[in-house]
Amino acid sequence: KMVIKRICCIGAGYVGGPTCSVMALKCPDIIITVVDKSKERIMQWNSEKLPIYEPGLDDVVKTCRGRNLFFSTDIETAIIEADLIFISVNTPAKSFGIGKGRAADLKYVEGAARMIAKVATGDKVVVEKSTVPVRAAESILKILRANNKPGVSYQILSNPEFLAEGTAIDDLINADRVLIGGEDTPEGQAAIEKLCWAANAFLAQRISSINSLSAVCEATGADVTEVAKAVGLDSRIGAKFLQASVGFGGSCFQKDILNLVYICECLNLPEVAAYWQQVIDMNEYQKSRFSGKVIEALFNTVTDKRIALLGFAFKKNTGDTRESPAIHVSKTLLDEGAKLHIYDPKVDHKQIMYDLTHACVTDDPEKVKNSVSIHDDPYSATSGTHAIVLCTEWDEFVSLDYEKIYDGMMKPAYIFDGRKILDHSQLLKIGFHVETIGKRLCRPLVNRIWGSPYQI
Ligand code: NAD
Repeated sequence: KMVIKRICCIGAGYVGGPTCSVMALKCPDIIITVVDKSKERIMQWNSEKLPIYEPGLDDVVKTCRGRNLFFSTDIETAIIEADLIFISVNTPAKSFGIGKGRAADLKYVEGAARMIAKVATGDKVVVEKSTVPVRAAESILKILRANNKPGVSYQILSNPEFLAEGTAIDDLINADRVLIGGEDTPEGQAAIEKLCWAANAFLAQRISSINSLSAVCEATGADVTEVAKAVGLDSRIGAKFLQASVGFGGSCFQKDILNLVYICECLNLPEVAAYWQQVIDMNEYQKSRFSGKVIEALFNTVTDKRIALLGFAFKKNTGDTRESPAIHVSKTLLDEGAKLHIYDPKVDHKQIMYDLTHACVTDDPEKVKNSVSIHDDPYSATSGTHAIVLCTEWDEFVSLDYEKIYDGMMKPAYIFDGRKILDHSQLLKIGFHVETIGKRLCRPLVNRIWGSPYQI
């Protein structure tokens, strides 16, 4: 029986980094080396400012780094020395060819497998952690076995990761479930694959369901929060993931559903494919509806208007911007000629500019650069603007001094709460025009110039 003394993890991303850090914390006798082909990423993991933000991560890394946790670009040595290797590389949707934009691109997984096959000298347990279709584990096995050298044998396992960004450390320490699949059970592999996609598809579906009802609430005058609360009290449904918002983002939901849709089409199940595609379509609709609301409220034109965007990450407690709704909202406003003033507590300035000058957002990056300024604090971002658009539910946005912010803004001052986290009646009292998701808000009879609220 093999004793695991050294672990190598290929891929130092949102999964590999936190997972190995917690593993190093919990297993001080095992030496864990996280490797990546990106020099910059590894340099950041070895620096004071880690490449990703997760509550609690800094402390775990500080405790373990240099003790039994190492970050390195020397992939070959780490593979040779390891008894067990995690493959934790990215599996984006394909950007070209058959299944473009939908099928999972497994080139990085394959690259990692080929690297292991090339350099391994002893017995290895290879654990697939990336979210991959069932055939991927088989292909890893095929690549490894086809390049077999004497004295080398492989055992392949699947251990898909279910952590959520923003709560990764807690999810890893108190996991709802840990799934390990062996190569000897193809049915087990198929079940694992379905489980990963099903979990993300169901979660995203709940968000799209409540978001679809938010449109109904706005049209009829009901409050979607009340609806969600009442619906969530039904123990068969439960209260989680029923928060209406500007839409879901993140690297996984859209990719995993598109992958599911693609596989359904390949399996000649067009009705099932259309059903899940609708979850994505509803999310697109929600983002467009929110951006449209901003433009409509600002007298149907935002050209040359200064708009503050609060929050750029796809959700709170992460600096990750992949598929963030803020990108969609920014693009719409920039296309309409707005000047954006962006603030996010954790996203790097460089990352924001990169996302907004990307080819899928603009064909004129110079114009975007001239229309976007990125701020280090929310007060400077909002100062002198016509409107605030809140895109991420960061806790700090709830307790900002909105009186002060209001005083520094152009009038009438607008606030669009895309996450439904602010105290709307308070904002209305201050004098803001407030718009949110799934609820119509009317302005009380207040006039700040003439006196206190409710006088007229
Ligand atoms: P990521 O893009 O943050 O990190 C992947 C890293 O792998 C990158 O730094 C990249 O440089 C590196 N890499 C790629 N090929 C390599 C190679 N051959 N050798 C060395 N390094 C290589 O991705 P992530 O968010 O950590 O996701 C990894 C996998 O986990 C994906 O399959 C994803 O679907 C799945 N997953 C992600 C989450 C999440 O919340 N992010 C949750 C559960 C599962």
